[in-house]
Amino acid sequence: MPKLALPNKGRLYDEVRAALSDAGLDVRLASDRVLFASLGEGFTALFVRARDIPEFVADGVADAGITGWDCALESARELETLLDLGFGRCRLSVAVRAKPDGQPTTLDSVTDGARVATSFPRLAEQFFIERGCQIQLVPISGAAEVAPHLGIADAIVDLVSTGSTLRTNGLVEVATILESTARLICRPRPMLDPAIASALDDLALALGSVVRGRQHRYVMANVPRARLADVRDILPGLNGPTVIDVPGSDFAAVHAVVPERAVYRTTARLKALGCEGILVTRIERLL
Ligand code: AMP
Repeated sequence: MPKLALPNKGRLYDEVRAALSDAGLDVRLASDRVLFASLGEGFTALFVRARDIPEFVADGVADAGITGWDCALESARELETLLDLGFGRCRLSVAVRAKPDGQPTTLDSVTDGARVATSFPRLAEQFFIERGCQIQLVPISGAAEVAPHLGIADAIVDLVSTGSTLRTNGLVEVATILESTARLICRPRPMLDPAIASALDDLALALGSVVRGRQHRYVMANVPRARLADVRDILPGLNGPTVIDVPGSDFAAVHAVVPERAVYRTTARLKALGCEGILVTRIERLL
């Protein structure tokens, strides 16, 4: 029975559960505190800290896991990505105190001997070593942004999404070390039992279809027959639009899958061509 390590709380918890549920795997928890839960389809969930998931997967305690790519890289364990889930987007950045006169600050302000507070010691050290800078690590487990104000650090290396926490604390981002999203990870393929590997491929396919579904919309429109050729350019769809003849009418019904970011422009162009009954719906899964 494949075992999946999942975040037990924190920023990724709700989105991971929602993605699994949309893929047809519902977490059946007996209480909020349980360590194990059934996911259905033969999967068991093991709920642990997001930070510990790479270690559990690499050690074979779980067959796969979902966690931030930042955690996987910090663990420095050998792991494979089965799927990028696209959510949990953030970056690991270097930040320093803003200058009181508002003058720009750069990474050059972090020099040899600078004290850098972080809960990502491995990635932070590697970043500065590659730049020929010898920093002094100040390991902390959370709230790095207060360290410069407490006088215990000159800079921090921390996860940032909007940047508002840094701004509130008078800090400026001066470099991005890496970009991260939530990923489905497993041990290198040759180390996996073939039956487990096949179950994980099915899981990646199901979760991937959820991710693709969220990135697209299904657009339907009644198109004047005379404009069908123009609409084919506007609605390329995955394999061209589906055109359904409406006998005895001057219109044909056209259906197509459209990238979410293109829906605004697409609907405006369809309307301008004289289309009617334009309908946009969400897609649960797209395989
Ligand atoms: P946590 O809430 O500390 O359990 O964070 C778990 C994971 O959420 C992190 O390792 C990141 O991959 C992800 N994450 C996404 N946005 C942020 C953010 N702004 N700050 C911290 N973690 C984030």
